[in-house]
Amino acid sequence: MVDEHEVIVLGVGGMGSATARYLARRGVDVLGIERFDVPHARGSSHGLTRIIRLSQYEDPAYVPLVERALDRWQDIDDGRPTSLLHQVGSVDFGPSDSSLYQGAKRSCELHDIEHEVLSGDELGERFPGYDLPPEYRGVYQPAGGFLHPEQCVVACVQSAHAGGATIRARERVETWEASESGVRVETDEGEYLAETLVVTAGGWTGQLVPSLAEFLQPERQVQSWFQPTRPSSFEPEQFPVFVADVPEGHYYGFPVYRVPGFKLGKYHHRGETGSPAELDREPDREDERLLREFAASYFPAGAGPTMGLSTCLFTNTPDGDFLLDTHPDHASVVIGAGFSGHGFKFASVVGEVLGELAIDGGTDHPIEPFEIARLRSTTAP
Ligand SMILES: Cc1cc2nc3c(=O)[nH]c(=O)nc-3n(C[C@H](O)[C@H](O)[C@H](O)COP(=O)(O)OP(=O)(O)OC[C@H]3O[C@@H](n4cnc5c(N)ncnc54)[C@H](O)[C@@H]3O)c2cc1C
Repeated sequence: MVDEHEVIVLGVGGMGSATARYLARRGVDVLGIERFDVPHARGSSHGLTRIIRLSQYEDPAYVPLVERALDRWQDIDDGRPTSLLHQVGSVDFGPSDSSLYQGAKRSCELHDIEHEVLSGDELGERFPGYDLPPEYRGVYQPAGGFLHPEQCVVACVQSAHAGGATIRARERVETWEASESGVRVETDEGEYLAETLVVTAGGWTGQLVPSLAEFLQPERQVQSWFQPTRPSSFEPEQFPVFVADVPEGHYYGFPVYRVPGFKLGKYHHRGETGSPAELDREPDREDERLLREFAASYFPAGAGPTMGLSTCLFTNTPDGDFLLDTHPDHASVVIGAGFSGHGFKFASVVGEVLGELAIDGGTDHPIEPFEIARLRSTTAP
């Protein structure tokens, strides 16, 4: 007998777990299918920390969504024995003319977000782990901080379970087919039917939805943890998360949390793109060198011996913005993909958006910038 559900969520990582949670809490019969474990370290939602910041230097259009996301994370976090959300503050810094600093300031001003503008010197006085050129500028926001991504996935899946969802890990979706009557999904274990399919397959979405593959580029990333030589300066109470735009590139970092090291990474690291199977998942000396150089220049007391290195996947779209939409050819298929390097913080609200698209056929959230058609129009001859 074929197993039937109202909605199937394909991929139970950051976005899929939040979508399954939202749907189950609305009383929907939902099945989530995950090819690896729940959680796991082969996709995009692992590494113990993900920045959440209200300023959105990328585009102020993201601010209403991130405000809702923060509210949802607080709700998901409520009553859990260990916190998912750590509001240690956040800093967006760079030279005063950098687009990151200017964009962060603009989005705070436009949306009336509590913030302070601090010079490089002032940042160093307040947060002694920071050692920036005095003429640099940073936007400090007390409400920023980090999420624990693996625990967010766990919390969402537990909440989905409590709402009656079925989640099946270690089962790989091989194909899907949409018709007038719904969708049929085939895995390496069996066959399932549903009214609606939500695809949240991260770096694998292009393989599962080939018509979108040209817009979804997986990219190898590396996260490093270095022992602080002055540990007190890298404690969460003393060290806000940061995003930096400096001549060497675009970096981000976190206080010490769960691993005895100051964590940092570089956006678009070494520019290595390819399918998830092609990308090298083993970090090497060059990865380490590149990240250590940045730490030594801007956070010298955080550049001690290496404590850990790990790889991860971005899924980039041509304009860096998400895809949150119904499939252009199939009304019963909803897509949530292309979260590039900044999607995790939004997962709690993305779960609502995708759930509403699946069940209500639309959403009041402001998702026009994330329609698939915008990409087609930019690449049309
Ligand atoms: C190093 C790094 C640092 C980052 N830092 C930040 C940050 O500080 N703040 C922030 O907001 N964002 C950050 N991001 C981005 C953010 O983490 C991602 O945008 C987000 O995790 C994407 O979630 P996802 O659900 O799309 O992907 P995933 O969490 O990878 O989920 C996709 C799931 O689909 C499953 N799947 C794929 N194919 C199949 C199949 N055939 N059958 C069944 N299951 C399948 C996968 O196994 C996976 O579990 C960072 C990303 C990386 C890599």
